[in-house]
Amino acid sequence: MSDAAKNLTETEPRQLDAVVIGAGFAGLCSLYKFREILGMDVQVYETGDGVGGTWYWNRYPGARCDSESFYYCFSFDDDLAQEWEWSGKYPEQPEIERYLNHVADRFDLRRDIQLSTRVTSARFDDATHRWEVRTEHGDCVSAQFLITAVGCLSATNFPDIQGLESFQGESFHTSRWPKGGVDFRGKRVGLIGTGSTGIQATPVIAAEADQLTVFQRTPNFTIPARHAAFAPADQAEIKKNYAEIFQRTRESPAGFPYFPIERSTHDVSAEEREEILEGLWEEGGFKFLWGGFSDLLIDPAANELASEFVRNKIREIVKDPETAELLCPKCHPYGSKRPPIDTDYYVTFNRDNVNLVDIKSAPIEEITSTGLRTTETEYEFDVLVYATGFDAMTGSLLRIDIEGAGGLRLADAWADGPRTFLGIQVAGFPNLFTITGPGSPSVLINMPVAIEHHVDWIADCITHMKEAGKTRVEATPSAQDSWVEHVAEVSEYSLLGTGNSWYVGANIPGKPRVVSPYTGGQPLYRERCEAVVNSGYEGMEFGA
Ligand code: NAP
Repeated sequence: MSDAAKNLTETEPRQLDAVVIGAGFAGLCSLYKFREILGMDVQVYETGDGVGGTWYWNRYPGARCDSESFYYCFSFDDDLAQEWEWSGKYPEQPEIERYLNHVADRFDLRRDIQLSTRVTSARFDDATHRWEVRTEHGDCVSAQFLITAVGCLSATNFPDIQGLESFQGESFHTSRWPKGGVDFRGKRVGLIGTGSTGIQATPVIAAEADQLTVFQRTPNFTIPARHAAFAPADQAEIKKNYAEIFQRTRESPAGFPYFPIERSTHDVSAEEREEILEGLWEEGGFKFLWGGFSDLLIDPAANELASEFVRNKIREIVKDPETAELLCPKCHPYGSKRPPIDTDYYVTFNRDNVNLVDIKSAPIEEITSTGLRTTETEYEFDVLVYATGFDAMTGSLLRIDIEGAGGLRLADAWADGPRTFLGIQVAGFPNLFTITGPGSPSVLINMPVAIEHHVDWIADCITHMKEAGKTRVEATPSAQDSWVEHVAEVSEYSLLGTGNSWYVGANIPGKPRVVSPYTGGQPLYRERCEAVVNSGYEGMEFGA
């Protein structure tokens, strides 16, 4: 940008209705809704050099969706749903990236998306009721609304291990994977982390590399995905039933088109329980979590029965009993750490070129120039893969310097953990809307469903403001306090917050332990959101 242009931008920021940060599912959906339906002047900024968000960044080997394709997509346009052909149940990253690029093209969204541009700060001006938004390139724009579509799992977490920079081989974090891929042939690979990402990457890397050593701090329960390609008849059946499928995703507890069975674990005999669990295991995917017994995530005894069922599967699949026991999670209830679904994870540990190392009992002390050293052994590698996850829920928001009314910084407002109203608004930050923010069900719901709900809700709120001639909206501190209390209270009834997971910030040293996603389920959450609208936005203050 020339100096003259820069000066002009400094003095005369471009005036917009809204800035949207991020061009993943949430950003694209927002741009479509706010521009095409509400007629707003919207600018989207995106750090990546392509659209896709999560599906732009996470291109590691084995990356694929673990919700089924035909409901892990947008429902806002019937023609889009009818036109797009998903190749199978669980599409790989490139297919979802292609889908989101198709959406960007189909709705002519690109003209309002500025790629390769990180938003660095946003400041609310009390006098004008507008946000001044700045980017890493020096852009400065003024917008009435600031809409964060930054994703819940976007802020990369590099582990805090001594010597990280000293490794002389190649090293990669899974969420910043090179576009050209990594050639593992003939190489010794060390992989740290056994969350959803590590569990997806392990079988694929093992099939290519000379040797793979997986460093596991906490074992995770994973259920087979049982991926299958769609035949034309499957596609036709899905398309015929799309309206009903989408409706069910909006009504079910977790945004999937199915519901838990209407029985608790203790209502059935041991034989029947095993039969039901076996059926869920055979069917594969998230049904084991969200389509099984109704008390799975509430009753520790019921959960333990399902947990032991999975452990027994691990013991059946993995031939070496010591490795099998190491892979069996014993310190957290099933589902309390976000359970992955996998393709051939456990069986991969039967390969001669794969080795599992327990770093709970012998932690990694240092990354060395040639590999890494645990308290027990030194390992040499050609490639190190960090599948160590994210500073989830809050990290992507707090990495932007956001300053609300009266100079209140979001980082200070959330010093003891995130505080929001419905996960959508933050007291003291007028005209800021956080799509799938902390305090909303977000990651506990099939994400596109959660995103579309929030975008619609925000659009309704903005329409309400316009009709009432208001220019400023914010949650009241007392409404926010009640919501935060409610989120904490419902989490007491659930096992979801009991593990040391990113759900509660436990994966980031020093992060306050707070159950960030709303665990009350989608129906209750939607009811609460609707009640706010029906009451004339009780809990929110409007100004002009
Ligand atoms: P994650 O679930 O947080 O797992 C990170 C792993 O790295 C854990 O095993 C963790 O151990 C380990 N780790 C972190 N810091 C470490 C350290 N300093 N030393 C040693 N080990 C360390 O991250 P993720 O696997 O990237 O998954 C995050 C979320 O992204 C998932 O839960 C899911 O919601 C989403 N995801 C979705 C898909 C999909 O839909 N297909 C795929 C991948 C990811 P501890 O458990 O002991 O902390």
